[in-house]
Parts: sequence; C-alpha cells; structure tokens
Amino acid sequence: MTRICYLILLTTLSLTPARAGDKPPWHGKQCAVCLTYDDALNVHIDNVVPILDSLGLKATFYVSGFFPSFKARSKEWKSVAAGGHELGNHTLFHPCEGKAPGREWVRPEYALESYTMKRMIDEIEMADVLLQAIDGKSLRTFAYPCGDRKVGDSSYVENIKKRFVAARGVEGKMQKIGEVDLYDIGAYMINGQSGDELVQLVKKAMESKALVVFLFHGVGGEHTLNVSLSAHSQLLHFLKKNSKEIWVAPLIDIAKYLKAM
Ligand SMILES: [Zn+2]
Repeated sequence: MTRICYLILLTTLSLTPARAGDKPPWHGKQCAVCLTYDDALNVHIDNVVPILDSLGLKATFYVSGFFPSFKARSKEWKSVAAGGHELGNHTLFHPCEGKAPGREWVRPEYALESYTMKRMIDEIEMADVLLQAIDGKSLRTFAYPCGDRKVGDSSYVENIKKRFVAARGVEGKMQKIGEVDLYDIGAYMINGQSGDELVQLVKKAMESKALVVFLFHGVGGEHTLNVSLSAHSQLLHFLKKNSKEIWVAPLIDIAKYLKAM
C-alpha cells in the first residue's frame, strides 16, 4: 500500500511540471512562424500574395520606397496592406555598408560610410511617412538593410527602439519565448533551400516551442537570393495544414504579443 502511495506521489510530481510546460505558449499554439519578404519585389505581388491570401496566411513585407516595384505598383502595395499584411520599414534607399565583403553592388551614394546619423534617421522617418500614406498605420516593425546597424562608428539601434515595435536582423536562430530580443529578431535567410528543408525548420520550432522567422527575397526568381515556387508553396501548405499548432502572423503581431506578456 505504502509503495502504491509512493508511486502515485511520484507520478503526480512528475506530471505537474510537464503539464505546465505543455501549455502552448504562442497565442495558444506550439510555435510561431513569421514569413518576411524583403525589398518590394514584383514577385511578392505576383507570386507570393496570391498564395498567402488563398491560404489565409498573413506576412510582413519589408519595402524600400526606392525600389522599382514599389514606385511602379504603389496601388497594389496598398491592396497588400489592406489585405492584412504588414508593410515594414526598410528605409527609403536601402543603405548598407559598401566596404563589407561581397558588397560591390552597393552604390557609393547609398553606402552607410557616406551617411551621417541625421541623414539615416531622416530617411527612416520619411520612409515611415511614405508607408503611412500607403497603409494609414502609425505602428510597424523595421528590418535593418543588409543586417547593418552602424553609421560610421555609431549604432543607430537606439533610434530604431524609439520608433518601432520591433526590428528584424539576419541571424538564423530558433527563439523561445523569453529569449527574443525585440530589436534583433533573428531570421533564416532563404536561398535555394528545398521545400523539405523549409518544413524542417518549422518542425524544429514546433519541437522547441520557438519562434522561427523566414527571410525571403526572390520567390520564383527576380533576385540572386531565391527560393523555388514549389519549395515556397510546400512550406505554406504545411503551415496551413498544421494551423492548429502553428501561429503564423506578421512580425508586428508577434512583437505586440511578446511585449504584452
Ligand atoms: Zn533588403
């Protein structure tokens, strides 16, 4: 009898913490997935938004006003925002450090080395004015162009904290609740992965109850960083099929949820 009581006690003790740990942490779901698409490409409007909308998934598009597709298709970007997707601030001219390796494509006029802090802050502010004219929103998230944070020797991150709900970087990592740095949210740079590899990242997030952020550029072309239409479609259908366990949301919604905890 005593042995049975002891076993019951042991079972109860071992079950209690497991039950607490099993509570789905992400908006009542096991993990959170954020789909982000950078640089306002035509393929985002032509290839990405239609499949997102057909599956009822919402994403974040980090747009720079200077990019051709943004200038030429602002009415369509307005429709993208009206459809519930976030238009995130990615500056006006996409300034990056031009001297870093592999940055030959950075034009000298838009190299961070040639910027002052005031110019950078003014540019980010005017990008917000542009986006507000498009979507009417005063709150949004930011993505550091090329992941760079410095103008000269000085970080501009403090200025981002004053203005934005959160900011996305470019470091691929799984982020558990309580471990997310809202002004350096990690993201997996997608370039050439298969559909299975993309799904595997989500499965890993489900297992570890983490946030996983995807960083797409080209989807079915238009950029040197690219993923095939079929791989992208496989990922989105997996997200839809497992929507009871996976919270898919624009980064602003995920950041607001974390800030309210
Ligand atoms: Zn970019």
